[in-house]
Amino acid sequence: MNFRNFKMVGYVVYGRGAFNQLDEILEPNRKGTAPMIFLVDHFFENKELVNRVPAKGKDKIIFVDVTYEPKTTYVDSLARQLKDEFGTVSGIIGIGGGSAMDLAKAVSLMMTNPGSSADYQGWDLVKQAGVYKVGIPTLSGTGAEVSRTTVLTGPTRKLGMNSDFTPFDQIVLDPELCANAPANQRFYTGMDCYIHCIESLTGTYLNEFSKSYGEKALDLCREVYVNKNGWDADSDDKLMMASYAGGMSIAYSQVGVAHAVSYGLSFLLGTKHGIGNCIVFDKLEEYYPEGVKEFKYMVEKNNIDIPKNICANLSEDDFNKMIDVSLGMKPLWENALGKNWESIITRGKLRALYEQL
Ligand code: NAD
Ligand code: ZN
Repeated sequence: MNFRNFKMVGYVVYGRGAFNQLDEILEPNRKGTAPMIFLVDHFFENKELVNRVPAKGKDKIIFVDVTYEPKTTYVDSLARQLKDEFGTVSGIIGIGGGSAMDLAKAVSLMMTNPGSSADYQGWDLVKQAGVYKVGIPTLSGTGAEVSRTTVLTGPTRKLGMNSDFTPFDQIVLDPELCANAPANQRFYTGMDCYIHCIESLTGTYLNEFSKSYGEKALDLCREVYVNKNGWDADSDDKLMMASYAGGMSIAYSQVGVAHAVSYGLSFLLGTKHGIGNCIVFDKLEEYYPEGVKEFKYMVEKNNIDIPKNICANLSEDDFNKMIDVSLGMKPLWENALGKNWESIITRGKLRALYEQL
């Protein structure tokens, strides 16, 4: 048995208003006059938060376009632009949802590793530490703030740069930053966390480490989406910790069927992670009966729209592509269904599932 020896985030600060400490946190990590680069989710352009970014000297704020999930070409062009302009930088700070945080991790790594980020899509291919990197979530749920991966769409695949160099050196968890997120988006991203918990807690890879975090994260999701009526500051506090704990849970286990199937959707149709997981999970009664029942209750109670019929009008070829991508996620299927997963989830069965979405 070879136990995973996993690298965690360096420093964590949590609390309402913790963002105000950013200047002080960055200061000892500045290297001479090399700038800090703030990659800020484009949602915040012209918003009040930008005035609070502690940019000084040659520091630069770049508003990142997260209309589509991060691509290797985008990461490469950001890293190239920074190298051309500054040579070297003191650090990269990602402020936003999972997309902006993933961009920050990837750009940090590409400041020091040669070639294209596409060369590093896989496990432990990154050979050099990146520059100092900080993650500051403004949406809660993905767990990208704690994970050792950064999910990128490359020329041939959608796969993370999974490595010990990928986790942030620092994260700033300030629930105030999530206050203005639209209800639907907040739900889709929040459900990413809920689904991480269900997939981790019912999986064959489960151990006490994952279980401890997963159960707590699940309780927090339930407090927010099942027990409460309406949204308040306390909901943001709880969901931010749920995301963190959910991320810690899957760090030592794995996700499952919803993620494996939703990767196919995102590869073919560009469906975003959170909403894609919701579309799929809604149809997974067979695999997660209790979780799906509760999910449907939360959707109804919180008055959320889950898109339907997104696979209508797809060709034979399209279905085959999605099935290939999905079946390629072997550890996810093995976690969900056990060692004999290939005899349980056949192409035909998966096709029937995609047709329902
Ligand atoms: P996102 O980052 O893609 O953002 C979704 C939308 O919300 C965007 O339009 C964004 O501009 C907007 N937004 C962000 N913060 C907001 C705020 N406070 N108020 C209003 N709007 C706001 O969404 P996400 O669900 O957080 O992240 C999904 C991404 O995370 C995907 O790219 C996925 O691949 C990645 N991901 C990564 C990991 C990992 O471990 N690295 C895990 C899961 C998902
Ligand atoms: Zn997820």
